[in-house]
Amino acid sequence: MIGRRDTVSGAHFAFTDRWGGVSAVPYEKLNLGGAVGDDADAVRTNRELAAKSLGIDPARVVWMNQVHGAEVAVVSEAWGNRPVPEVDAVVTAERGLALAVLTADCTPVLLADPVAGVVAAAHAGRPGMIAGVVPAAVRAMAELGAEPGRIVARTGPAVCGRCYEVPDAMRADVAAVEPAAYAETSWGTPAVDVTAGVHAQLDRLGVHDREQSPVCTLESDDHFSYRRERTTGRLAGYVWLD
Ligand SMILES: [Zn+2]
Repeated sequence: MIGRRDTVSGAHFAFTDRWGGVSAVPYEKLNLGGAVGDDADAVRTNRELAAKSLGIDPARVVWMNQVHGAEVAVVSEAWGNRPVPEVDAVVTAERGLALAVLTADCTPVLLADPVAGVVAAAHAGRPGMIAGVVPAAVRAMAELGAEPGRIVARTGPAVCGRCYEVPDAMRADVAAVEPAAYAETSWGTPAVDVTAGVHAQLDRLGVHDREQSPVCTLESDDHFSYRRERTTGRLAGYVWLD
């Protein structure tokens, strides 16, 4: 259910694994993604189960319609019956409002400045990392009073740089923008390390209090992996303030 969780000065960070939900194959068990072909009732139940496990209100979770871009939404409440906008980061200064990011190999990024009372969740796959979705989220946090030096950052389970094989030209394009993302697979071919790129971006912005999940989604049977399974569920990362 909840694979990893911690709290820093009243800011909560949590990442799910694939177990503890009600979804059937190929989304078993805890698929939290609403746009991957799974049964809508199962997804709703899974989201309620995850919220209950975290001690948060499922009606006060802000989800995104993620499109691998760099747009950020600043929010003060859940979407309710309104359409969920196409953004890859959400930011709030509302205590008790949880922000959620869905992934299955991409890097989920959770950020919090507990002093300013500002949190952000971002979805950084290869395109989003290159487009700068994480710096955009940090800038939006700063506009609400956050300071990079106080921001606590957590990146969750994602495909690692030893597994994320790409064509040589793609690696060159990525590395031209973010050299830290240059990688090689364990079998010696060109690869990209998106999480390393995200951490390099955060470091340059002055966000030094960072931790990275040791889990590679492609290598872990306890996590959804798009590259391994294609049709599969989505993990979630959640961040919120007391
Ligand atoms: Zn790996």
